[in-house]
Amino acid sequence: MTGEQDTGVHGPRWRALLEARWQARLRELTELSLAYHVAIAAAPAEPEAQALLRRAVTARRQLADVEEALSRLAAGEFGRCEQCGGQIPDGLLATAPELRYCARCDGEPAWIRPLAGRTAR
Ligand SMILES: [Zn+2]
Repeated sequence: MTGEQDTGVHGPRWRALLEARWQARLRELTELSLAYHVAIAAAPAEPEAQALLRRAVTARRQLADVEEALSRLAAGEFGRCEQCGGQIPDGLLATAPELRYCARCDGEPAWIRPLAGRTAR
């Protein structure tokens, strides 16, 4: 039950950081989407339009990652690895607050995660 205490102390700081990133991602996504629509209207077959679409899809996923991190913060689970439950170091969160896994779990192939969550190591 220390999670609530942890986010209580650091909550405002992480919230401000996440909100700033959310706004940056949203702006990026809006710009990419607008650029994509301009490009696709001008020349649908251009590789440039497809590249913009891929970047927009990535930006959308990153925006969703930040939103999930904000939900974890609200739930008092921010900064905890979703797989092993370990604390993700503040230094890592400071550069990437949307991280869902600690460095150890993040190093494993994604397909292993759902299974590994059931086995204690
Ligand atoms: Zn972990």
